[in-house]
Amino acid sequence: KQRLIRGFKDWQIETYQTIDSTNRRAKEFAEQNPGQSAIIIADEQTAGRGRLGRKFYSPNKTGLYISICLSPKDLSYESISLITAQTAVSTSRAIETISNESVKIKWVNDLYMRDKKVCGILSEAITDIESNQVQALIIGIGINLSVPDEGFPEELTEIATTVFAPNEMNHCTRNDLAVAVLNQWLLAFNELPDTGFIQEYRKRSNILNKPVRVIQGKEAFNAFAYDIDNRGRLLVKASTGRLHHLSYGEVSIRQL
Ligand code: ATP
Repeated sequence: KQRLIRGFKDWQIETYQTIDSTNRRAKEFAEQNPGQSAIIIADEQTAGRGRLGRKFYSPNKTGLYISICLSPKDLSYESISLITAQTAVSTSRAIETISNESVKIKWVNDLYMRDKKVCGILSEAITDIESNQVQALIIGIGINLSVPDEGFPEELTEIATTVFAPNEMNHCTRNDLAVAVLNQWLLAFNELPDTGFIQEYRKRSNILNKPVRVIQGKEAFNAFAYDIDNRGRLLVKASTGRLHHLSYGEVSIRQL
């Protein structure tokens, strides 16, 4: 079957030394340029965000912050729900081309090395309230490259890690990683909505076949994570015996 090869032709690429949030700028770009695609890259975010209003610590020069802004013409309906998982897989591949250590995925949007978080992915859609149609999809990728000069803030020292060891990062290795992230992302994106990559997602998962705690808003329950389906949903069996299909959204998973 012939595939349409989509490249970054006609995409706008913006780079910033410092910005409040690359996802925020990508959203603004989408609103100002309907139908256009863009890549926003920054050295530092002063108001980097995670899911549910959480902060993503994004200090100057020791991280890589990229947001990809897609217009509906780039996307099929099936692709939209797969894009976070696709980005997790492609970014893991990219990091592994640069570092010799393996990258695991904590469903659904975090990448881990040495059992600590090295990268967070934040997908956000702009939807038209009346038609409920997606007008733009923003995928933010934040990667810790090396330990900040002042060290990680106390609350992150136990949970965060970096791609590079001290003194291993320079302009070249940083640029190599940025290029690898975008290349691997594009290659994987061009395969969508094929779900072949989900097999790799399962293999990379660090919660599959393990007991987990599922947190949904104010509710939480213990369960066993037994599969990830071809739509990227996490299938868990609660201790009550009930099966749940969890989608990216308001769900958080903790390892038990
Ligand atoms: P989940 O709820 O699925 O576990 P999460 O808690 O990792 O997701 P995210 O929204 O993906 O939440 O990321 C924000 C969280 O990540 C913060 O609450 C903080 O614990 C952690 N964090 C913030 N900055 C960094 C960073 N630079 N590196 C690693 N972890 C970070």
